[in-house]
Amino acid sequence: MFKTVNFATYSSIKIGPCVEVLILDTLTKLPNGYRLIGGANNLLLSPTPPPLAMLDKGFDFIRLEENVLHIGGATPSGKILSFAKKHHLAGFELMQKLPGTLGGMVAMNAGLKEWEIFNHLIAVRTEHGWIEKSQIKYGYRFAQIEGIVYEATFTCKDGFDENLLAMFKKMRDNQPKEPSAGSCFKNPEGHFAGKLIEEVGFKGKRVGAMMFSNVHANFLVNLGGGTYEEAMELITAVKEAVSARFRVKLEEEIMIL
Ligand SMILES: Cc1cc2nc3c(=O)[nH]c(=O)nc-3n(C[C@H](O)[C@H](O)[C@H](O)COP(=O)(O)OP(=O)(O)OC[C@H]3O[C@@H](n4cnc5c(N)ncnc54)[C@H](O)[C@@H]3O)c2cc1C
Repeated sequence: MFKTVNFATYSSIKIGPCVEVLILDTLTKLPNGYRLIGGANNLLLSPTPPPLAMLDKGFDFIRLEENVLHIGGATPSGKILSFAKKHHLAGFELMQKLPGTLGGMVAMNAGLKEWEIFNHLIAVRTEHGWIEKSQIKYGYRFAQIEGIVYEATFTCKDGFDENLLAMFKKMRDNQPKEPSAGSCFKNPEGHFAGKLIEEVGFKGKRVGAMMFSNVHANFLVNLGGGTYEEAMELITAVKEAVSARFRVKLEEEIMIL
């Protein structure tokens, strides 16, 4: 089954073509040549992306079973946060304004500072079966998972922390309000990507309708009608400038397809 998705509206950065996306409704392997997407909050799509697939709504669920939380790969972060709040569960406060689906968040080990999705993870279910966290190599914004995350389990600890939630809210206050795909680059070891971008003069730098935000330089924002080509021009230029000045390689956090 296929679904027409307009990435100019679906993706958080509001760029991309209208394409037919394969909907995966059973635990199957990704067909050869296909790339998987979740909520497209960390994506920059070219006008000619590879064939794309996404999980069916049937994988949007949350179940509490014998003190273990089972969450489907297509479940949005906002729904998980509301569930945790309602049931007074700890460990999901970081999802405050962190847009994504469970699958995308696990695949990226999404988080803020030391609060990461892997902190309370028990296991993930892929088309190959269940994989325990101890068998997964993961770190800052990456997780090496063979296959598609259809479901994951989490520890159920009592104590939703309103103070932590307020702290995340405050941390989000210095993020730009315009459409973006979150942080454009990972922080290179010993550096902050935003600071490097600022120091080479790219904070507020604009090409067409794309700009490295004045609010937070590591956010590549779309001021309205921005294009893939404009985004790529800025990404390429800033990488060259940072490499030339600091001999530091900026690595994209956003997925470019
Ligand atoms: C305003 C804003 C703020 C943000 N703040 C943060 C932040 O603080 N911290 C942070 O970590 N990120 C942040 N992000 C980025 C984004 O929210 C995360 O990367 C999130 O995990 C993306 O989830 P998604 O479902 O949209 O995945 P997508 O963007 O669709 O995909 C991201 C990656 O996940 C893979 N993937 C998607 N679904 C699955 C699945 N079911 N199984 C296996 N792999 C899968 C894709 O193949 C791709 O490689 C922010 C983004 C925005 C727009």
